[in-house]
Amino acid sequence: MVPESALRSGTLSSRSKGLSADKVKAGMDKKRLEYYKKKLLVRREELTKTIARTQEEGRTADEDPTVDLADKAANSYTKEFLFGMTNTDRTILNMIDAALKRIQADEYGVCANCQEELQQKRLEAVPWAKHCIACQEKMEQGLL
Ligand SMILES: [Zn+2]
Repeated sequence: MVPESALRSGTLSSRSKGLSADKVKAGMDKKRLEYYKKKLLVRREELTKTIARTQEEGRTADEDPTVDLADKAANSYTKEFLFGMTNTDRTILNMIDAALKRIQADEYGVCANCQEELQQKRLEAVPWAKHCIACQEKMEQGLL
């Protein structure tokens, strides 16, 4: 961290470039980091609720003796669908947790592959993104 005295006396001329002498790795300031952290936590909360609700719905429908066989068949289809959704939710939840860990470790906002800083636009859309767009595309093509 930069000593406060340096900030006050204005000796920190390279501040806008940021990366010179001090240990700023990702170049992301605290305020931004807090912003994304909050975003991640809100999303995490939503997902946790959705997953819990989906599980609850699956259980109640199963235990309901008034539901006849045809409905049960339809229900198991719905359940499969919901289960698929839950799986996606879980995947995102895991990625959110990983992103929160990266925030703690001060590694957030940097591509895990090429170490380039992630674009703000990308983080805005996918705050748990671990790779830059170029690397993500390579990964999807199986090149990474
Ligand atoms: Zn990359």
